[in-house]
Amino acid sequence: MSALPTSPILVATDLRKRYVAGEASVAALDGVSLTLAPGDFVALMGPSGCGKSTLLHLCGAMDRPSSGTIAFEGRDLASLNDDELTRVRRERIGFVFQFFNLLPTLTVADNIALPSLLGGARTADADARTREFADRVGIGHRLTHFPQQLSGGEMQRTAIARALAHGPALLIADEPTGNLDSENGRRVLALLSEINRELGITILLATHSVEVSDAAHRVVHMRDGVLVDLDARSAGVG
Ligand code: ADP
Repeated sequence: MSALPTSPILVATDLRKRYVAGEASVAALDGVSLTLAPGDFVALMGPSGCGKSTLLHLCGAMDRPSSGTIAFEGRDLASLNDDELTRVRRERIGFVFQFFNLLPTLTVADNIALPSLLGGARTADADARTREFADRVGIGHRLTHFPQQLSGGEMQRTAIARALAHGPALLIADEPTGNLDSENGRRVLALLSEINRELGITILLATHSVEVSDAAHRVVHMRDGVLVDLDARSAGVG
């Protein structure tokens, strides 16, 4: 029996994003199209300021494009109001940031449980998921600690557990190893590869690290708000 074709998780078409501040205006994205299939692991690379974070924010339903469309799991995000967009973000997407973004006044356990609780999970379910994912990322022995008592690697592993515990389909990570030493960076990368492989979670991440992009299935290069197809460019050279 042949496998049925799977629908993409995300289809972004001709995205443009212009930031306006007073007289100044910056075209952060200038016509970007990107499709993510279920189980994809895609690395975005490019110099600082080329638009990687902006693209991640739009794909993660954290912001809206100036023009262009994003279909997430078949739904046009432009058709959703702000509450519906928040629900998509809370229920279907997980985020990992370069500087971890843990809440300093909450324990590791409470940080991990927060997205599930905000999404309406029962406390017992959120607790069970917290323990499961804390163990998976190797932080289960630190559940009652506060973020400032953790190393950078432990903070990022906590952030990964927080991003996963509510059961997202898509994980978005903005330079997840950018603030870690190489050993902790490798551990975080191994964890991301494992959750992609074993849980089938689609990953879209921005990185400057060749080691990270080597682990991805696909590398997308950006420059000045557009995707640059290196293969096509080099094909045109010879
Ligand atoms: P990258 O993640 O590749 O470093 P960004 O997406 O952060 O790039 O930024 C792309 C461009 O948009 C840059 O010129 C940046 O200064 C500008 N930019 C990003 N966010 C804002 C904002 N909130 N307001 C104004 N300009 C912004």
